[in-house]
Amino acid sequence: MKLRTIDGLDVAGKRVLMRVDFNVPLREGRVTDDTRIRAALPTMLELLGRGARLVLCSHLGRPKGQVVEELRLDPLVPVLRDVLNSALALEHRAPLDVFKSPDVAGEGARRTIASAGNNVVLLENLRFEPGEEANDPQFAAALAALADVFVSDAFGTVHRAHASTAGVAGLLPSAAGRLVQAEVEALSKVIDNPTRPLVIVMGGAKISGKLEVLQSLIPLADHICIGGAMANTFLAAQGHATGHSLVEADMLDAALAMLELAVQHDTQLHLPVDYRVGERFENPGRCELRNFDNFLDDDVALDIGEQTLKKYHEILWEARTVFWNGPMGVFEQERFSSGTLGIALTMAALADKGAVTVVGGGESVAAVNRAGVARRLTHVSTGGGASLEFVAGDALPGLKVLEA
Ligand code: ADP
Ligand code: MG
Repeated sequence: MKLRTIDGLDVAGKRVLMRVDFNVPLREGRVTDDTRIRAALPTMLELLGRGARLVLCSHLGRPKGQVVEELRLDPLVPVLRDVLNSALALEHRAPLDVFKSPDVAGEGARRTIASAGNNVVLLENLRFEPGEEANDPQFAAALAALADVFVSDAFGTVHRAHASTAGVAGLLPSAAGRLVQAEVEALSKVIDNPTRPLVIVMGGAKISGKLEVLQSLIPLADHICIGGAMANTFLAAQGHATGHSLVEADMLDAALAMLELAVQHDTQLHLPVDYRVGERFENPGRCELRNFDNFLDDDVALDIGEQTLKKYHEILWEARTVFWNGPMGVFEQERFSSGTLGIALTMAALADKGAVTVVGGGESVAAVNRAGVARRLTHVSTGGGASLEFVAGDALPGLKVLEA
């Protein structure tokens, strides 16, 4: 997929409406993690350097089309100002202020933009407007009226057909920002002519949410290594004892169909051969190693075991391209984190010897950050749902409108 990039966009002296994903975690009115704000820096710095006047817009949380006081974007302003000005200072460039608009695209927004000069404007939470998620043409037009050009840099929402991701792009000269561009380039390496062997590592809580991705990736991959609770459903479908591990009873047929699909495409689909088990999900109590022969009725599988990790490591070691989504176990609990952290370390070592290593997904990204290896990997996606839909080969509405 080829996108129009900001290389081809005339921005000097223009007002640039830039869609960002500043859906940051807040606690007691404070931003607790500024990763998403930093992710927009390359595009912001480049556009500002080329003389653009930035009007940033983002959603935060799920206000569902009405004003929710706790979800106003005001707490983001000091963080954005710091992040931006530290970066500008590093390049010996003059500092800028950040002006917050009191509304999304109304009179308040127009006034704020008019008074901001060359400073950066941040609009109010897009999802306060019902027209945003409905992709209402009138609301898209109101957004478009605030600027001369549009830049989309919110990869985390490109799988949604909203006014600020799809609608507005058709109304102004528009292009993908550097973050969206980098995401698409990296994720394309997994699905467009990947350097082989291509190994997919899939885990996490449920098959149901990831069936479509699996279905698309099985024909493409050389190996698929399954872990997490998802593996239990496969094993239960094959008739193995799984104690009272999390199993999706209504997905047993779907799991068998995936195994069959793998056989048809000559793809090797690997399942765990051993596990770390506890007594209960919420309060695991013991932590013991099990394999098929000695799985007890009151066991619950909470991580892949040592044999499985070793086997997955050996498969990964031969890989030239790897995509990983979904933790191998309940890595939030230290005793059940070795499978997930083990995969993260293997991916990093693999990246060091030149393989393409890409991670996508909310908890998987948290895991590579926890393992301290994020910077060594080829790409850590900022879009959970979007990255999965992209590798599943779906046409994403927020990217379609940016196609060259
Ligand atoms: P991602 O956000 O990376 O796509 P998911 O949302 O699908 O991943 O799943 C992440 C969750 O799956 C983690 O919070 C983890 O605790 C849980 N999980 C992994 N393995 C198991 C298991 N064996 N039993 C129950 N939950 C599990
Ligand atoms: Mg998740």
